[in-house]
Amino acid sequence: MSSDNQLTLFQYSNPQEKELIPTNAKIPIPSGTYANMTEITDHCNSCHRCGLGSTRQHAVIGRGNQKALIAVVGEAPGQNEDETGLPFVGRAGQLLDKILAAVRLDSEKDVYICNIAKCRPPNNRTPTTEEIAACKPYILEQIRLVDPKIILLTGATAVKGLTGDKRGITKIRGTWMEWEGRLCMPIFHPSYLLRNPSREKGSPKWLMWQDIRAVRAKYDEIRKEMGVK
Ligand code: URA
Repeated sequence: MSSDNQLTLFQYSNPQEKELIPTNAKIPIPSGTYANMTEITDHCNSCHRCGLGSTRQHAVIGRGNQKALIAVVGEAPGQNEDETGLPFVGRAGQLLDKILAAVRLDSEKDVYICNIAKCRPPNNRTPTTEEIAACKPYILEQIRLVDPKIILLTGATAVKGLTGDKRGITKIRGTWMEWEGRLCMPIFHPSYLLRNPSREKGSPKWLMWQDIRAVRAKYDEIRKEMGVK
């Protein structure tokens, strides 16, 4: 199929035409293409906009509450995620659940969890700039559908992938930033905390505790403003 042809197809809203994902990552997937997460999941499972599509077992889309006020965005699936089709279900995921639970956030009820890249990079390497760009329409669609007020960005790849901000995570963690009218909080990636288990004052785990408490406080503030009990 020629690029022109693919682009033309995406200007229509006929569901059959939507089945034809542009295989050329330079061709955008417009906002509003997907009506729900199932459509995104189906599309991603047959996506080949980058090379990762040829090695995946499952595309990993999201878990949790699709109407949550908080979204957590990670980097890319690892082995457990690739096998199950669910994000953050390995050791890093278990730690993420604990971090959230420490401020009474339930990972199934109170947040929606997803990743910048939907397919596992070989040997868990960081997804490339091209892979992230190819996958970006999917995360944008997920955020549009969930419409979270707060986005937690775990690690520098998630920050750069979503907002384009290239600063190191140590520099920007714990500081609120605005992206597309939403409040984003960069935090350490849970895998980084697994490699740095100290809880001493100033350690990554200690800093995470400060950050997640700031998130909880902002969440309470927003819920109060919204009149949510
Ligand atoms: N790390 C991530 O960034 N995402 C996952 O889903 C699992 C581990």
